[in-house]
Amino acid sequence: MARHPHWVPAYIGLGANLGEPLQQLRTALASLAQLPDTRLVAVSPAYRSRPMGPQDQPSYINAVAGILCTLEAEVLLDSLQAIERGMGRAPGGERWGPRIIDLDLLVYGDKVVASNRLVLPHPGIHERSFVLYPLADMAPTLKVPGRGSVQALRAAVPENDLLRLEDSLTT
Ligand code: AMP
Repeated sequence: MARHPHWVPAYIGLGANLGEPLQQLRTALASLAQLPDTRLVAVSPAYRSRPMGPQDQPSYINAVAGILCTLEAEVLLDSLQAIERGMGRAPGGERWGPRIIDLDLLVYGDKVVASNRLVLPHPGIHERSFVLYPLADMAPTLKVPGRGSVQALRAAVPENDLLRLEDSLTT
């Protein structure tokens, strides 16, 4: 398995709007923590957000996880997709349609890439309040490669009815 020669900080966006979203985020976090060559370091507060695209679907619960890993970015993406499938997410499906779990690789160290399979930093980061708020909670000094500071990005995005929840994702 391709391994990076040192521990790379990476940020994963989590979202769900079907079933029991909070519980599914907890399950996905537990799976992340068990990935090989990966340490789950931090979990943001959970937020409730309006769905993107079609509005006739339940609101989302979102959060961000901070990890350290020696997996290469592409291998990490494979692992995230395996967690999604393991939790019952069918491949394909409507763009921005409802989902049991969605895991996005937001940032992987200072890597900037745009291949067919993997775009880094994730192309939606700078316009998504449900990513930028939890990311800034967790990593307030983070610089998103090629995009600037997470604080500046958060200040530039409409809040979009985002609601920070009291529910803990780690207990
Ligand atoms: P989604 O609907 O968000 O689950 O989109 C998944 C698709 O986006 C897959 O085909 C991935 O290969 C692709 N993709 C590209 N860049 C990323 C990224 N940074 N994180 C997650 N998926 C990505």
